[in-house]
Amino acid sequence: MTHQRERIVVLGAGLQGTCAALVAAQRNYQVCLVDQAARCLDRASLRNEGKIHLGHVYANDDSFRTADLMLRSALSFAPLLERWIPGGFDWPTLRTTPFTYVVANETLIPLPHLYEHYGRVEARCRELQAADRSLHYLGERLDCLWKEQPLPRWLNPAFASTAVATPEVSIDLIRFRQIVDDALEHDSRIELLYGHNVREVTREAHGFTARGCTTSGEQWTRDAGCIVNALWDGRLEIDAQLGLTPNQPWVYRLKHRVLGRTPKALAGIPSMTFVLGAFGDVVTRPDDDSLYLSWYPCCQTGWSQMLKPPAEWDAALTGTLSAREQASVVDNTLAAFDHVVPGLGETRGASADGGVIFSWGDSNIDDTASKLHQRHQIGISAADGYFSMDTGKFTSAPYFASQLEALLS
Ligand SMILES: Cc1cc2nc3c(=O)[nH]c(=O)nc-3n(C[C@H](O)[C@H](O)[C@H](O)COP(=O)(O)OP(=O)(O)OC[C@H]3O[C@@H](n4cnc5c(N)ncnc54)[C@H](O)[C@@H]3O)c2cc1C
Repeated sequence: MTHQRERIVVLGAGLQGTCAALVAAQRNYQVCLVDQAARCLDRASLRNEGKIHLGHVYANDDSFRTADLMLRSALSFAPLLERWIPGGFDWPTLRTTPFTYVVANETLIPLPHLYEHYGRVEARCRELQAADRSLHYLGERLDCLWKEQPLPRWLNPAFASTAVATPEVSIDLIRFRQIVDDALEHDSRIELLYGHNVREVTREAHGFTARGCTTSGEQWTRDAGCIVNALWDGRLEIDAQLGLTPNQPWVYRLKHRVLGRTPKALAGIPSMTFVLGAFGDVVTRPDDDSLYLSWYPCCQTGWSQMLKPPAEWDAALTGTLSAREQASVVDNTLAAFDHVVPGLGETRGASADGGVIFSWGDSNIDDTASKLHQRHQIGISAADGYFSMDTGKFTSAPYFASQLEALLS
């Protein structure tokens, strides 16, 4: 008699769900990966900035726990993905230009405190790499994690007077998604249920049953011994059906990104993160003129503390905002950036979409006491074969999937 492999249903094919599915397949589970979208990594895991965080930006978490988690996640991001998708990644071709941290004159955290934090990040990074030779940051071993530099000439000195070079980078999410997509399509161990909405999960004598309907309206059902809930913005609703509700306030934020082409006069500008407060980011690539912009006050347009974010956000999340809605985000963002980096207002071919950010807390980022400045209470909640995964950051998805690997029997 052949042994029937246990089935695991993974809900959500963002980076968290795809990593969980790959891990479960390696543990010899019969895997079913479900998503409402037509392919993997189509929501927050596509429409984000792609920064693999080293922890610099979490200087307002005095416990250092967020930076520590980001470092552990960032240094294992590539090694873990290489283990699950061998030969898939040519990291140098995926990397953006490194981030310069630009310290705003109106920073929430004073410069000496920021420098102390960057020093701790550097020391901890060296310690982690020394303790485990298999760790690397997207193909590189890191040594110097921050260095003050003269204020670049293209920055408005009325906005900022200090700049710090770092080795932190983002990755090209389109190319990255293609690699993950190909790996899943060729993996016969994983049943892909794209275009499948998840409505309900119930606990049964045999384990669990997941149910929903397809985009064309047909009902679907799968029984499973284990469930992984990696639905991100749909996660709490399914958790609640199983009696799991958070014991602290949470918030979903709708955050937009603007994609365009760097103005010719600004060719060669590096990626930048403006710290610390409700500012924004610029991401550039070394090999073309593509540009990512996000200015927090203009790009964060939605705030919800309900169990599920409002349906009106869907157009941004699926990249189907009307021309008028996009123009509103684009125009405000370019106007704000033009004050910070004069000339960025001339960004060409700009469009906008967005994603949801789930986090603990109930006040916004301009409040120094806000829990949005921390991202360490994230990861897996496990209950008798049910695993609910709060990814927290794109950066930490593989790291949490490796923790799931240890929990799967
Ligand atoms: C603008 C922006 C910038 C960001 N920048 C960064 C950054 O630079 N670095 C970083 O580390 N993090 C960043 N983040 C956060 C990061 O994007 C998320 O933490 C991460 O992508 C979450 O991954 P996930 O797999 O959990 O969620 P997702 O990628 O959203 O995957 C969840 C999946 O579940 C599916 N789903 C949800 N509900 C249902 C349902 N009912 N039925 C069927 N399917 C469903 C969705 O279609 C989706 O594919 C950013 C986020 C945003 C919005």
